[in-house]
Amino acid sequence: MSIYELSQDTFRTIEGEGNWILKKTPKGTKSLLTALVANRSGEIFELDGYAAVGMADQRVQPLSVADTRNLPYGSELMFLPDRRPIVLNRRTGKLEVLQENPYAPGQPLFPVAAFNSPGYVVAAISGFHENNRAEPLPLFSYGAVGWHRGKFRSAVIRVDAERRQDLRLMKHEDVVAGIERMRRRMPQNRLRAHLEKCALEYGCPAAKNFFLGRCEAPLPTARQCNARCLGCLSLQQHSGISNSQQRIAFTPTAGEIVEVALAHIKRVKHSVVSFGQGCEGDPLLAFRVIKPAIAQIRRQTGRGTINMNTNGSLPDRLGLLFNAGLDSIRISINSVRKKCYEAYFRPRDYGFSDVLKSIDLALARGKFVALNYLNMPGFTDSPAEVAALGRFLEKFPIHMIQWRNLNFDPLRYWQAMNRVDAGGRPVGMQTVLEQIRKQFPRLKYGYFNPPKERFAN
Ligand code: SF4
Repeated sequence: MSIYELSQDTFRTIEGEGNWILKKTPKGTKSLLTALVANRSGEIFELDGYAAVGMADQRVQPLSVADTRNLPYGSELMFLPDRRPIVLNRRTGKLEVLQENPYAPGQPLFPVAAFNSPGYVVAAISGFHENNRAEPLPLFSYGAVGWHRGKFRSAVIRVDAERRQDLRLMKHEDVVAGIERMRRRMPQNRLRAHLEKCALEYGCPAAKNFFLGRCEAPLPTARQCNARCLGCLSLQQHSGISNSQQRIAFTPTAGEIVEVALAHIKRVKHSVVSFGQGCEGDPLLAFRVIKPAIAQIRRQTGRGTINMNTNGSLPDRLGLLFNAGLDSIRISINSVRKKCYEAYFRPRDYGFSDVLKSIDLALARGKFVALNYLNMPGFTDSPAEVAALGRFLEKFPIHMIQWRNLNFDPLRYWQAMNRVDAGGRPVGMQTVLEQIRKQFPRLKYGYFNPPKERFAN
């Protein structure tokens, strides 16, 4: 992948002018993707004569066919208000911020980004420049995207081939039939009712899978959290950003959790049930109901994998959950550097050292440990972060990294991270994945929590 660097100064000068010069002119612009833009009505179209551009902090890269793949099924395209597209003018070889449609002067254009399907990690952010007083972007990831020979192409790397959340396997009528079946089976269960809303109103694939009797079922439980993540999906206060999911408004009883979990475990081969979802706080804060729920499930069956997605903030509680029968954990982390972790998670009453203690404890107890590593090109692939990840993996031989996209405004994220610990010139996400794999060949890569039958392979 060719990467073209822009200096901080260039960024400043461009603000009023809308014209950058690449330090290096790209060769073979034919293999570059055509830029995609949107008009004021949100209609998306390709812009002949201009190539699509991706960015990663202070670096921009024209998108080539070789560095992208067909837009994964189920991905969505979005246009970015209050922002202007950065594109490469094929004729001049210059980068430009388009103030207006070059073929229809006076008509504004907006950048277009892809929210990619699960299983794909973003390798470059859609190239855009923000207007003064722009509102923060909603909580999605903004992958770079372009057009080539009649198809959308996306700057992503596939990290999990499993079709766990493939929408083609989740027909609406089958979900509705599953909902009716579960209603008859557990009419009073409030957690079941909550999952219905998740499946039908929010289109949550995990909730749909519960009603379809597939793979992994969610067990949202916690109303509270002890962190204040910048990009928390279920709670935003005074940030000017809307939360994208409603946090669960009640705490299910242990009995309600057990009923849902057992219904799933008993009918699904290699099932996983998971605490810690986008529509809740952190499950360690709901320890009082989760611990007896796990114990009751395990009294009735040894089947199924009981997993917890968590911030890992309370190692003592985690230890007690392992005693009760919790099989695996996935710890969410945006960075393995304390300052950057704390700047994003903004923990209350715990520190980064507690998260490390939880990982240590889980490994010592022989539990399966995955990182929910929240990625942002330009940060995750910075030399400081990559080196820190290597040191972390030497010390904590976890089993898996789930490379997931951070759903947060990229510019605001880079600014927040650079303020506390600038990581240096990014090396590219593909390079990071390859480098870490080479250093730690036994480490699994993926996107989904594996069932225990697959812990070893
Ligand atoms: S740990 Fe999870 S629930 Fe808590 S603030 Fe962060 S994203 Fe939100």
